[in-house]
Amino acid sequence: MTIVVTGAAGFIGANLVRYLRETAGRDIVAIDRREPTSLTGVKYLRADLSMPSDGVEKALGEAEAILHLAGFPGVRERGPDVAGRRHRDNVIATRRVLESTPPDTPIVVTSSSSVYGGSDGTPCSEDQPPRPRGGYAESKVLAERLCAARAAAGGAVVAARLFTVAGEGQRPDMALSRWVKAVAAEQPVHVYGSLERTRDITDVRDVCISLLALADNRVQGVVNVGTGTPHTLRDMLAAVETALGRVAQVEVRPAHHDDPAATLADPTRLTQTTGIRPHTNIPGLVRRQAVAALGPLAGDDSDRRPNVGSSPELSATGASHDL
Ligand code: NAD
Repeated sequence: MTIVVTGAAGFIGANLVRYLRETAGRDIVAIDRREPTSLTGVKYLRADLSMPSDGVEKALGEAEAILHLAGFPGVRERGPDVAGRRHRDNVIATRRVLESTPPDTPIVVTSSSSVYGGSDGTPCSEDQPPRPRGGYAESKVLAERLCAARAAAGGAVVAARLFTVAGEGQRPDMALSRWVKAVAAEQPVHVYGSLERTRDITDVRDVCISLLALADNRVQGVVNVGTGTPHTLRDMLAAVETALGRVAQVEVRPAHHDDPAATLADPTRLTQTTGIRPHTNIPGLVRRQAVAALGPLAGDDSDRRPNVGSSPELSATGASHDL
């Protein structure tokens, strides 16, 4: 029996495939529209999930679980065809995956904290009504509705609302990636809104562990995958400066309307259903991400520093450094 990972060539998907193979010891079928850059020893299907494919349907039909990460992320994407591509990848592809998977097979669909439209400083819990801001968040709400329809028909599915994920291979459009690159090149760092804005940052290692646990525990409904701890952009930038041993030149730019001032998860349900409580060590995480992007840094011991979570699973898995 295998686990199917969609979006396997992407940031989280590639980390997840490595975690499933090397740490969790699972057999995998990896699916993506793109060629993977670094996946070895994995059965790989190159396919567009918004189109019919016999190979994809066979893989989904035979799997023990599906971790569906394929999608069109990012709240700031602009352009004439963005709305159509986002709908294709976040909604149509998700519908095809849900429809092609037997009802009893658990599916974890990656949704986003953006469905909350931000936090007023208090943690967002899954029972709050969605308040999506912008096309990306709206597409994730539509995908969650498809999940709810599968569940209402007796199917196994959970929508995992991920809060800003960071770590090795983070997407180049995301803030930490941009900042690491800019500070390394002694270029200005562009900060949107203000350095006092906050994000609930989740370590990609904890996301991988959580997604597998949601499938293994056959969790149903909607579950936040976040830490419950806010971090200011100032603290994140300070961690970049410390990791690189350089001072950043900061240019503050107007925030985009779809980008909330704060995000914050209530992780209670994740802990109740899986026993996992993610924990983010910002300096260690930023250093790991910088090393993955730039190579060894001065005084580097980052790959010997574990990301220690508060649950036994996290401590045990984080200490193995396999992602
Ligand atoms: P990513 O862009 O790095 O990876 C997404 C992958 O999906 C890409 O490799 C892409 O080729 C693939 N893909 C997209 N549409 C496809 C299709 N129709 N058929 C086949 N493959 C397709 O993004 P990521 O940051 O790894 O995010 C993974 C998922 O998690 C996305 O659904 C995203 O919306 C969600 N998410 C991410 C974050 C984050 O902080 N990175 C936060 C919240 C939610």
